[in-house]
Amino acid sequence: MSNEQLSLFEESNFDSNDQKELIPTNAKIPIPPGTYASITEVAQHCNQCHRCGLGDTRTHAVVGRGNLKAPIMVVGEAPGQNEDETGLPFVGKAGQLLEKILASVNLDTEKDIFISNINKCRPPGNRVPTTEEMEACKPYLLEQIRLVDPKIILLAGATAVKGLTGEKRAITKIRGQWIEWDGRLCMPIFHPSYLLRNQSREVGKPKWLMWQDVQAVRAKFDEIQNNH
Ligand code: SF4
Repeated sequence: MSNEQLSLFEESNFDSNDQKELIPTNAKIPIPPGTYASITEVAQHCNQCHRCGLGDTRTHAVVGRGNLKAPIMVVGEAPGQNEDETGLPFVGKAGQLLEKILASVNLDTEKDIFISNINKCRPPGNRVPTTEEMEACKPYLLEQIRLVDPKIILLAGATAVKGLTGEKRAITKIRGQWIEWDGRLCMPIFHPSYLLRNQSREVGKPKWLMWQDVQAVRAKFDEIQNNH
């Protein structure tokens, strides 16, 4: 083995258990790709994590639900009260609406989808997570994406788009457009809680736009499946 190969080996060989044990306590400790072998391991760290202040007030870390090898991943913002209490993402009214929307194009959250959030712990009063909080938690999400390995990622709401891709434009400007991120197809969509506040089904209104977007997702999913 050449010296160059040896140094590459050393850098990628992240098996220092001491270092790994420090991950949940210090946001400065990196989480290199390949740190976790399973979502269960990610969940264990999230549930003991204090990389940001949201760990101080959570009841449960909300790590994800659905098929651990799903072809489609939905990423939301952060847990709300119901999610914090149950430890499961998207379980309140917004979650039920999301299930209905996906079911309307025959996507099943148990089979086709894995659901997660940018931040795993609930921000007090359901405020938007800060940039620092999002950055502290992001490596867990990157590990989840690597492990689930979805073909399509749906980013529900502006915070999810910004948290993963850094894109800061308003969701009304970018929803429904495919973005390529890290070799994966991502689509920004409205957060279902926004649709709960905008109930009109008229042409051009958020609910109608969401219907267009979810049909585009279904069509792309079919296209990908037919090409394999
Ligand atoms: S939100 Fe993420 S980074 Fe912050 S304490 Fe929870 S798991 Fe850790």
